Amino acid sequence: MSLFDNIRRVTPYVPGEQPAGEVIKLNTNECPYAPSPRVAEAIASVGHSRLRLYPEPDCHTLKDALSAYYGISPKKVFVGVGSDDVLALAFLTFFAGRKPILFPDITYSFYDVWAELYGIPYDTVPLSEDFTLDPADYARENGGIVFANPNAPTGIELPLAGVEEIISSNPDSVVIVDEAYVDFGGETALPLLETYENLVIVRTMSKSRALAGMRIGYAFAGERLIAAMEDVKASINSYTMTTLSLAAGKAAIEDEAYFRETLQKVIRTREHTKAELRRLGFIVTDAKTNFLFAAKPGASAEKIFHALRERGIYVRYFKKPRLDDHLRITIGTDAEMASLIDALEQLL
Ligand code: PMP
Repeated sequence: MSLFDNIRRVTPYVPGEQPAGEVIKLNTNECPYAPSPRVAEAIASVGHSRLRLYPEPDCHTLKDALSAYYGISPKKVFVGVGSDDVLALAFLTFFAGRKPILFPDITYSFYDVWAELYGIPYDTVPLSEDFTLDPADYARENGGIVFANPNAPTGIELPLAGVEEIISSNPDSVVIVDEAYVDFGGETALPLLETYENLVIVRTMSKSRALAGMRIGYAFAGERLIAAMEDVKASINSYTMTTLSLAAGKAAIEDEAYFRETLQKVIRTREHTKAELRRLGFIVTDAKTNFLFAAKPGASAEKIFHALRERGIYVRYFKKPRLDDHLRITIGTDAEMASLIDALEQLL
């Protein structure tokens, strides 16, 4: 026996780099535009003496704003410190059985980290050759299901009928649909919430609401599932959301015009960049996200990744089977994407 025998050892998730200084940062799917100016006003109006007090434990400021915006009872809303926190708590709450949970072999690379941390058995289900998901693969015994829609890092969306097939064929399992990127053109599973009590939808303000630095995530599910998540949360930390993040999240949700304008800009730039990459010979998935997933036949994605990095352009490269010939490229401003295309033209 040694001291270290009592220490939990895990292999953590590795987030994309946050380099200091002026770089073109297309590696962590942040929004290239500032959040709504109303967010700055809301943060300023909190008043620094308010920080003396603990924040709201029930987070009603933000839950009420989300409830009003989506037309869903606040009892069906959960909020957390980014969707990573919401997902981690959802895993801990809903995947407590003995049967393996299921998720795709290619998806958000945090899912297996949480499963390992919590000792949740899991099986990965291979996506098809073209990275699409076949709902029939999920019609088997399991202890729960989680998938991202649209998926990351492929950007590919499973149509709503397929999402419903997975949910309806697994009434005894909680199905978590991670909709981190849905605002950029995907179809949400929200309309299914009324029908299926096993559905949990997870969202984030990090991408489409430009608030990655505030760490705000949320989830929708039936009242019983949300109450179970609240109990688990309150067994770890009563005060997860800061007073500032509650105010900022509410302000972001309430500025619909700014939200629409930002989304339109990102989507327009995405479609233009998609066409430019194809012109350069890249195979690009039909991503419905604020990033693209691209491979250039005959070229090394790893070499392109390093060469771009030397030029101060950061994209994401995954040294993993089935992914290591691709790059994931976040959509930046038009000027940033023009610099990327210029650099690629010189490199290739
Ligand atoms: N889900 C997916 C699919 C993601 O790509 C990310 C971003 N890394 C997250 C969840 C977590 O985002 P956040 O914690 O910033 O809400």
